[in-house]
Amino acid sequence: MSEAPILKDTTRSSGREALQKNIQAAMALAEAIRSTLGPKGLDKLLIDDEGRTLVTNDGVTVLETAKVEHPVAKMMISASSTQDRVAKDGTTTTVILAGEMLQNAWQLILQGIHPSTIARGYRKSEQFILESLSEIVFDADDDIKHSVVNTTLAGKGHSSMQEIIAKLSLEAVKIVAESNAAVDISKIKLISQTGGKVEDSRVFRGLMLPKKRISSDMAKEVYEGKIALVDGGLEKSTVSTDLKLNVTTVGVLESFRQEERKMLKQMVDRLVEKNISVLACRESIDDDIKNYLTEQGIQAFRRVSRNDLNMLAKTCNAGLVNSIMGLSANNIGEFISSKNITIDGKNFWIVEGDGNAATIVAKASTADVVGEVERCFDDSLGVSVQLIEDGKVVCGGGAVYVALAKRLRRFAETIPGREQLAIEAYADAIEVIVRVLAENAGIDPISALIDVVAEQTNTNSDNIGINLLNGRPGDMIELGILEPQGIIKQAIIGATEVAISILRIDDVLWAKQEMEMPELPDEDV
Ligand code: ADP
Ligand code: MG
Repeated sequence: MSEAPILKDTTRSSGREALQKNIQAAMALAEAIRSTLGPKGLDKLLIDDEGRTLVTNDGVTVLETAKVEHPVAKMMISASSTQDRVAKDGTTTTVILAGEMLQNAWQLILQGIHPSTIARGYRKSEQFILESLSEIVFDADDDIKHSVVNTTLAGKGHSSMQEIIAKLSLEAVKIVAESNAAVDISKIKLISQTGGKVEDSRVFRGLMLPKKRISSDMAKEVYEGKIALVDGGLEKSTVSTDLKLNVTTVGVLESFRQEERKMLKQMVDRLVEKNISVLACRESIDDDIKNYLTEQGIQAFRRVSRNDLNMLAKTCNAGLVNSIMGLSANNIGEFISSKNITIDGKNFWIVEGDGNAATIVAKASTADVVGEVERCFDDSLGVSVQLIEDGKVVCGGGAVYVALAKRLRRFAETIPGREQLAIEAYADAIEVIVRVLAENAGIDPISALIDVVAEQTNTNSDNIGINLLNGRPGDMIELGILEPQGIIKQAIIGATEVAISILRIDDVLWAKQEMEMPELPDEDV
């Protein structure tokens, strides 16, 4: 039989050659972001197709912006994106861990160990680590939670900014957690404003929107009532879309208008019937009906975005309706208070309901700083949610990886055959975090690792990591360098998954020509 047509114009590499190329690609990617790890990590200047620039040291941002074509490199990037989605942090760590796992695997392959044996050893290591993590984690009190969020922000913005962002994030998440232990992060609204200092940023209980009621004759504050959320408007045009009109005399138009007003009034009567005291519409509310709404004691808001309506729905346990006629017990919400307030001359509408929401008003001097503040909030809110939901933390500065590697080596001794070597290789791989943190701070990586391992053994403590201030091993609890366990868990799961997937590929079929191989700085592979 002739060669299958699918292989025409295809470059094929298989077996060890395919594996070597794939591992090279993965390592090259890890190498590219290695220098950004940790608080002393350097920034990368990214320039896109259109010449826009972005300075960042966030691993996943670098990777997602880079134009990477190699499919294996794409697999690594996707592991980093998953890390970002699940744990909000640890994106660089995941890629560095996977790169190191593959590098160590390659050394074993050169010694004649089959990739599937390595994959099995790696899988056992991962399972062992996920089980042993419970021996290392501890419960965080409020001070520790604050330190954890600060650690997440290390290297991003200046330190007083980090303090404020950490404090506000935890405060906001705590408010949301009052109504449900599983925190819905979308109940937190971030309003960022230029002008002012970060120190003036504040958290408000409830959902706050930059809106004003449609008439100042309406009540400024309303308490304990029902709210209707309309994904449409209260306008003449919406009433008349279904009508056909033949205008023959001037009077006809006028009587038609009157009819329209009557229909709008009926809508308002319907609101009254349903005991609604606050109305929010995505589209407009006709000026003609303003007074009638006011007379009926309804506080009304128009042009509320759908996004904000959805947040209101969560805050007040309500549902969106297409028209007032669709209101029913199922979709009418309840609020505790609905107030119009002014802050620094700007109008806001703030709604409190049983589905606790929180609003952060973040201030920063310039648009650039606002962008940075928003990115910091994104990370710190994600980590705060993990902390409030779970509250279990581990020591940073590489301590947790050294503590896990120590246990993993003891476990390896109980596993016979070649898998033992794979488990040892995995233990060596996760210690890479200490080496890279040291390297990026200008500290000798090998001595740093040896010192941390020795100090953990001497003091019989899992809390010793690398203190980047003096280059010496230090107690991470005392130094306040702490991380939620979720980051470590997901980094181990993600890195192992991608390393094993890459080890399992032994045949690569590339259509047309071979894709460009990323440059590899070291000669190792
Ligand atoms: P990632 O994208 O993986 O989160 P980061 O650049 O944020 O990468 O670096 C996180 C690492 O830096 C973690 O291992 C954390 O423990 C460590 N780290 C943060 N602050 C310090 C510090 N002051 N001293 C030592 N290690 C630190
Ligand atoms: Mg980080």
